[in-house]
Amino acid sequence: MQSQPINFQPPTEEAAPILLPVTATLFADRADRFAVLADGHSLGDWLAFLGQLSRAQHQAMKALPVLALPDAATLDQARTHGMPPLNMTVRPPVWRDVLRQIARELGNDAPDGARKSLDALLAADDVWLEKLADTLLSGELEAGDAAELPFVAAALQVVFTQLASQLDASHLQKLDAHGVCPCCGSPAVASIVRLGATINNLRYLHCSLCNTEWNVPRATCTSCDTDKEVALHEVEGSNGQKSGAVRAETCDACKSYLKIVYQEKDPRVDPVADDLATLALDMLVDEAGYERSGPNLLLIGAYSG
Ligand SMILES: [Zn+2]
Ligand SMILES: [Zn+2]
Repeated sequence: MQSQPINFQPPTEEAAPILLPVTATLFADRADRFAVLADGHSLGDWLAFLGQLSRAQHQAMKALPVLALPDAATLDQARTHGMPPLNMTVRPPVWRDVLRQIARELGNDAPDGARKSLDALLAADDVWLEKLADTLLSGELEAGDAAELPFVAAALQVVFTQLASQLDASHLQKLDAHGVCPCCGSPAVASIVRLGATINNLRYLHCSLCNTEWNVPRATCTSCDTDKEVALHEVEGSNGQKSGAVRAETCDACKSYLKIVYQEKDPRVDPVADDLATLALDMLVDEAGYERSGPNLLLIGAYSG
């Protein structure tokens, strides 16, 4: 395991604090990225299937109507109290239709294990589907439902990404807790260091549910908010990624970590896909005593070893 201090470079211009998801391209780009990462990878079949899942998310997103946002009073109240405007526990019922569409879209191309889960989901009643969604979003997982959860997550990601994209970015604010999404309150899946005119070399956290990104200074732990630079390191696997585009950012103050991906190393990096293509890095950092601070919802139950 190699580690090195972070090279802190402050922004030179005012950068957007929050980047809302771009629904037209987000899941299609992720599907392409999974396909690239699957090529020659030891988990290539699984990554390729997740590419198909992302493609199905893209198709479902295209078919999704504009959704009802919380009313103005609720949005104002959330803002006044420093709460996210979207409530994870209040789900538009259309998410269940999205789930069924994704399950049908994947069709017979799915591997046997996944096919079984998809069939179970297509046959499921609304009560069970809502229970699965509650299980997933509460983070309190029950082993028996584990195989279905990545698909439930995929459907919820589509709906919450759509909702987040409909919010007015100028009315959003970052929350006190750095690691929590300012739109929906979910934990971040990973960070991305972006390229671009006013956001060059800035670190954004990427929401595990709604794909919103928010800027957090690189000199800050996203889990415990410490700004002791000495406690933060970027760890690269010794035989890690070809391009060095993915690292783990560890904090010695709270012993947590989260991956960080670099567009500078590869402009196509995706916080969700590249995270799942670097599970060896998770093992390395786990062994060194760090605990991951945010989930990848496509992994829960899918790869329990
Ligand atoms: Zn979110
Ligand atoms: Zn920390």
